[in-house]
Amino acid sequence: MSHLETTDLVQKCTEAGLRMTDQRRVILQVLAEAADHPSVEVVHQRSREIDPSISIATVYRTLNLLDQLNLVRKHDFHESHARFEANVEHHQHHHLIDVESGEVIEFKDDELEGLVQKIASRLGFGLVDRRLELYGKKRGHGRKTRG
Ligand SMILES: [Zn+2]
Repeated sequence: MSHLETTDLVQKCTEAGLRMTDQRRVILQVLAEAADHPSVEVVHQRSREIDPSISIATVYRTLNLLDQLNLVRKHDFHESHARFEANVEHHQHHHLIDVESGEVIEFKDDELEGLVQKIASRLGFGLVDRRLELYGKKRGHGRKTRG
């Protein structure tokens, strides 16, 4: 994920009418700096490193609020927990999930983008959002033992 300035995210939240508290600011900073797709627990761990008073309930509530405002994307990658990432319009990408390691790989594809636009238009729609998740196993490993 490309680096996102915390100030951009804070500004988007303020524009969306979110009341900005110190704790929310910390959570936004963690999201903006995340290069992965952290779970609630991971966002909580990272937030506590900045402000130890932040509870997991606050993180949970804030993430759900941000999700409702469409400022984060909540992903369900067929795991026991949801994962989150900051939502930036110019940063449309898709995900490939390694089902063995749980690693999430982001990708973009212009051809694919053209194709989904065409499908939407054929069905009489203008596209406003798209999500694609691919699930796979790395080739050439055969039976892989977990380390
Ligand atoms: Zn992503």
